[in-house]
Amino acid sequence: MATRTPLIAGNWKMYKTESEAEQYIQALLPRVSTATDVDVAICVPFTDLRAMVDSARGSRVEVYAQNVHSEPQGAYTGEISAPMLSELDVHGVVLGHSERRELFGETDKALALKVPATLSAGLVPILCVGETEVERDSGDTERKLRNQIGEDLAGVADEQLAHVVIAYEPIWAIGTGRVASPEQAQEAIAFIRALIEARSPEAAARARILYGGSVKPDNAPELLALPDVDGALVGGASLDPDSFSRIVAAAAP
Ligand code: PEP
Repeated sequence: MATRTPLIAGNWKMYKTESEAEQYIQALLPRVSTATDVDVAICVPFTDLRAMVDSARGSRVEVYAQNVHSEPQGAYTGEISAPMLSELDVHGVVLGHSERRELFGETDKALALKVPATLSAGLVPILCVGETEVERDSGDTERKLRNQIGEDLAGVADEQLAHVVIAYEPIWAIGTGRVASPEQAQEAIAFIRALIEARSPEAAARARILYGGSVKPDNAPELLALPDVDGALVGGASLDPDSFSRIVAAAAP
């Protein structure tokens, strides 16, 4: 069976100026330097990317962006392309976060172009999927996940699927303090893995699928011990280097 190195990724959202980011990384690096068998990532605002890549160089911390355009260049005012990120030595990009879907109208159609564009530039996509509370309550969780995985990954060849990281983020758990139960997280993530397996058993064995939604140092050990959970996408608790490094430690006990 393939072994999957856990990934703990912090999503800063629209927090931290460059000087705040510098202070953060200087505090984080010594706290995660001894953690082995775990990948650590921070997903930072565009304006922090260059400084974070420089400060994290040679460490175990990978730097991700939080959005990208699907075209390599063009007349798209205000947008950033995947080649622009890879030239900065950025490691990857978070795509399809529910805040981008809900607040900025990001569609599955757009994601179907962004995911392959990210891979073509040598970047790792972390694709976020997940259901609303209404969808869960009406028994629509699996339908939602099947649609999102089907549409967003339609343009990715089977041989490339293992390079996509998927984050299962139930929307009702994001920023609410209402973490999914271990049973809910395991069930949804096993379902996503089965969707990948239907396309490529090899990719399903290798692809990392994270849980995201109110992960904190105290609930991380139980979630990260679940058989199909390969790490966490962490919002609020990633903003403090101490709590984030405690979550990293929970993935590499
Ligand atoms: C997120 O923004 O992806 C997230 C999971 O946020 P939080 O951990 O704060 O719920």
